[in-house]
Amino acid sequence: NDRLRLQFQLTHYGNGEHLMLVRDITRVHQLEQMRKDFVANVSHELRTPLTVIAGYLETLLDNVEDVNPRWLRPLQQMQQQGARMQTLLNDLLLLAKLEATDYPSDNQPVAVDELLQTIKADAQALSAARQHRISLDAAADVQLKGSEAELRSAFSNLIFNAVKYTPDGGDVRIRWWADAQGAHLTVQDSGIGIEAHHLPRVTERFYRVDSSRASHTGGTGLGLAIVKHVLLRHRGRLDISSVLGQGSTFTCHFPLSQVVREDLQPS
Ligand code: ADP
Repeated sequence: NDRLRLQFQLTHYGNGEHLMLVRDITRVHQLEQMRKDFVANVSHELRTPLTVIAGYLETLLDNVEDVNPRWLRPLQQMQQQGARMQTLLNDLLLLAKLEATDYPSDNQPVAVDELLQTIKADAQALSAARQHRISLDAAADVQLKGSEAELRSAFSNLIFNAVKYTPDGGDVRIRWWADAQGAHLTVQDSGIGIEAHHLPRVTERFYRVDSSRASHTGGTGLGLAIVKHVLLRHRGRLDISSVLGQGSTFTCHFPLSQVVREDLQPS
């Protein structure tokens, strides 16, 4: 990290002259690294006391007969907010880990269709009372090289978001397939949609389209930042298209170099 970092910018002029700008960005890079380390350390340090507090709250609520009824509601609120903070810290730590390197923590073929089946089952369990129709159409012979844990986080975030931002009874459609360009995952919902001017910013950390609404949907505002980082590490990219009031489509594209296709393997 003490290495000198230079940024080069070359401009060609019509008259045959060239201009080369060299910027020393060593300090900027060091400060950025300090910020990342700080966030990771604080998140890590906050986790332990929070686990202790959550533990005491759980013991109290396991013995409700000993609790003054007037305290029941506040204690439940404390437990809920504590759980939210735990999710937030876990997401911050995951993001810090993802930012630390440019490549996935593993490079094994991942059976994406099976992964999507389990995420779909989790999403269905989570939205049981909300009657969403969740469909999955995934090619079993298309695998992706990378880290199953990272891909699970990314794909879960997209699928849980689709459920979260779609009114009860709505549709969520998940598709996984390959073509000559690579492999693609589409998560399409019939939900509330996102206004066009928000689209370029939704993958920024803590960016939320409507923070008053977002606070009761229980998200952390880090989900799509995690998705973006996981995709970058797998050489993928994210496309988002959306129509307000009609729904959104999130598509992950992966290049052929990341794809393992059973039908193309020599037997
Ligand atoms: P959050 O934890 O708030 O869901 P995300 O990073 O996952 O954070 O998403 C950022 C914001 O993008 C959300 O707060 C929401 O406003 C918007 N968003 C994400 N997914 C969808 C979706 N499927 N439909 C509509 N809005 C969405």
